[in-house]
Amino acid sequence: MKINLNPNQNPASDADREAKIAAGGFGKYYTDNMLVAQWSEASGWSDAEIKAYGPLSIDPATSVLHYGQEIFEGLKAYSQPDGGVSLFRPEANAERFRKSAIRMALPELSIADFVSTVEALVSHEKAWVPKNFGESLYIRPFMFASEIGLGVRPSNQATYIVITTPASAYFNPGKAVTVWISTEYVRAAKGGTGEAKTGGNYAGSLLAQKQAAAEGCDQVVWLDAQERKWVEEMGGMNLYFVKGKGAGATIFTPKLTGTLLAGITRDSILTVAKDLGYKVEEGMISTDDWREGVISGDITEIFACGTAAVVTPVGGAKSAEGSWATGDGNPGPITMQIRETLLGIQHGTIADTHGWNKRVS
Ligand SMILES: *Cc1c(COP(=O)(O)O)cnc(C)c1O
Repeated sequence: MKINLNPNQNPASDADREAKIAAGGFGKYYTDNMLVAQWSEASGWSDAEIKAYGPLSIDPATSVLHYGQEIFEGLKAYSQPDGGVSLFRPEANAERFRKSAIRMALPELSIADFVSTVEALVSHEKAWVPKNFGESLYIRPFMFASEIGLGVRPSNQATYIVITTPASAYFNPGKAVTVWISTEYVRAAKGGTGEAKTGGNYAGSLLAQKQAAAEGCDQVVWLDAQERKWVEEMGGMNLYFVKGKGAGATIFTPKLTGTLLAGITRDSILTVAKDLGYKVEEGMISTDDWREGVISGDITEIFACGTAAVVTPVGGAKSAEGSWATGDGNPGPITMQIRETLLGIQHGTIADTHGWNKRVS
């Protein structure tokens, strides 16, 4: 895919940009430019363009506004000790984007085109990559059905856009989140779209998120749709349970059954934990196993993981049947070790032995 340059003629001043980076948060400010490409069934992908970030003008009958045919990705660019910038495992995001596209009947974007468009925008917006450890430039590639018309069918036009936003830690890393275990609502069922990164999965989750907040919890935990028993994910993050303590601990995560979103952070942690000498295990864990494990002391730490927050400790859990806590609300030692190791690899302060970092500048 050829990338044409038509950048913002009025970019933020150095002072304005620095202030926006320093403001932190997640998705508060966007960089000067975005990348846009169009697809049609007749002519395939057209050239991509890097142009000024700004509003889109779309017809009210555009398909995505009515039927939600949409996919997205989330990945990060991290500053390196020598002042350069690296993307973390962009090919893995490209592959997942391709699979999400297939599931949502959108056109496939090749892995090479996904990676080269992300690389081109990030190197153009390099000055927006925060320098501090734990901070990053969050990259949001997405694609939506842009055909105009109310007929229900796979769109014969699609728009692909990449936007970027400076990000500090999404959650407060020092504070464990509390979770509401939903037995009333489900995120995904077998044969559904749970494995695809599509907005509809999130739209359907918001009422449960509201319920979690009403119960005094930060996040919702999803159970399987059939038995409402097996733990799947937390909000938009995967879950890990630490069994035991110290060097003999086992790091356990729910296995990918087809209804979980296959997180790249989840996958990276399976490897990182093994490198650190822990046993790793993928399997099934029920809410009863969770409660009993915490009470007996077999489960010593719980954390959630995803690109936005990297690793977030999980403290209290609450369900219709009661509530229980893990630890004292502070992140456990293995949670912190895994978080620091992963962030160290991403920032180039710990050796990248698996070739995960891709330099863009
Ligand atoms: C994106 C996402 C994750 C985490 O995936 P990462 O690749 O680690 O960012 C987990 N669960 C859901 C539902 C998601 O959408």
